Amino acid sequence: MTGLKDIYRGLSIDEDVLAFGEQILAQCKERFAKIDETAEYNQLKVVKAMQDAKVSEACLLGTTGYGYNDIGRDTLEQVYANLFHTEDALVRPQITCGTHALALALMSNLRPGDELLSPVGKPYDTLEEVIGIRPSKGSLREYGISYRQVDLLPDGEFDWDGIKAAIGEKTKMVTIQRSKGYEPRKTLSVERIGELISFIKSIKPDIICMVDNCYGEFVQRIEPTDVGADMVVGSLIKNPGGGLAPIGGYIAGKKECVENAAYRLTSPGLGKEVGASLGVLSSFYEGLFLAPTVTASALKGAIFAANIYEKLGYQVVPNASEERFDIIQAITFGNPEGVISFCKGIQASAPVDSFVTPEPWDMPGYDAPVIMAAGAFVSGSSIELSADGPIKPPYAVYMQGGLTFPHAKYGMLRTLQSMKDDGIVKSSQLIIKDI
Ligand SMILES: *Cc1c(COP(=O)(O)O)cnc(C)c1O
Repeated sequence: MTGLKDIYRGLSIDEDVLAFGEQILAQCKERFAKIDETAEYNQLKVVKAMQDAKVSEACLLGTTGYGYNDIGRDTLEQVYANLFHTEDALVRPQITCGTHALALALMSNLRPGDELLSPVGKPYDTLEEVIGIRPSKGSLREYGISYRQVDLLPDGEFDWDGIKAAIGEKTKMVTIQRSKGYEPRKTLSVERIGELISFIKSIKPDIICMVDNCYGEFVQRIEPTDVGADMVVGSLIKNPGGGLAPIGGYIAGKKECVENAAYRLTSPGLGKEVGASLGVLSSFYEGLFLAPTVTASALKGAIFAANIYEKLGYQVVPNASEERFDIIQAITFGNPEGVISFCKGIQASAPVDSFVTPEPWDMPGYDAPVIMAAGAFVSGSSIELSADGPIKPPYAVYMQGGLTFPHAKYGMLRTLQSMKDDGIVKSSQLIIKDI
């Protein structure tokens, strides 16, 4: 550790915090090796998708104005289609975020009188207004599109009978959220999503199965479109943007589904033909190229966090040893001080805005003050190391991201240092006896 101790000391990490971290890391080696193997597989998958689409230097330039014949944009969409093994894809800076991509996929493929079904319980918060679960202008509900939901069973299993009963004549589309998001349920593996889709299609083959793929891309070797999903939808400021994409969303899937989305995004009659890529394409390509290893770094950071805080006696989801299907880590501190101290540590480790102190505030749309820590190159990017937590019981914090593992590691050590400085974690706890 020559030199390392000194550089960490210069970054305010005490020796006992570092030593504790190193011991925890030693226990994570095997799991990290598996993650590296997955990253290698997915790296090759991305390179192959780019080679097969004949990405050229000209593709990295952008267009302005209408963006007719934007070869870089069209080729990138072919790359995404190759990667997800789909007929087509829509990958655009005009898709402003993940919620927008999901709203687009839903609104363009549903018509008045249709019904949308979620067989995996409540969807991500922001989708409540898209669907109209919480009233909003322009919701699906306002357009006469109804919604049904079947919750997961208490043990986390699918409610097969309930799902079967919920599928009716009007059921046109199913939305399946891969990641747990900020719910206490487990994240779905791609294999489980496949079982669910097979079951649904066996009841009604023409139902469109859409998967909210946010936070799940490149965590496994297969994606939901490999197991029957008609569409996968996600955000470029999460996994597939690799930290470089400054904006954007994607929809990959059946030609007709993607076409519908394109006509809705731009205009009937225009579809995919317009939409200048401006100057962002090189970051979309390069970000996608980096995405498998960036996702691996984030995963390792999450596993490191789970192992540190489980060892210290806190409840962590997923736990220190279970298999992972997304990059989110929840840690329950049981009191506001823990949540705030952890977030202060994340902020202090950031490359940008490390000198500011995050404070809980009353964010619109939330029923309790929320504290957020992020010092990102891309504002709000959650593939970069970030954390947030509502200041209410059970006082859990959700952390995710880390563009490189060394930074994710430092971030976790910094949270531990913050907890130590605030007297929440004692020096005597930072000694591991049983290894
Ligand atoms: C982040 C996320 C969204 C919404 O994406 P935004 O870019 O924040 O609008 C939707 N679903 C899941 C599961 C997410 O993690």
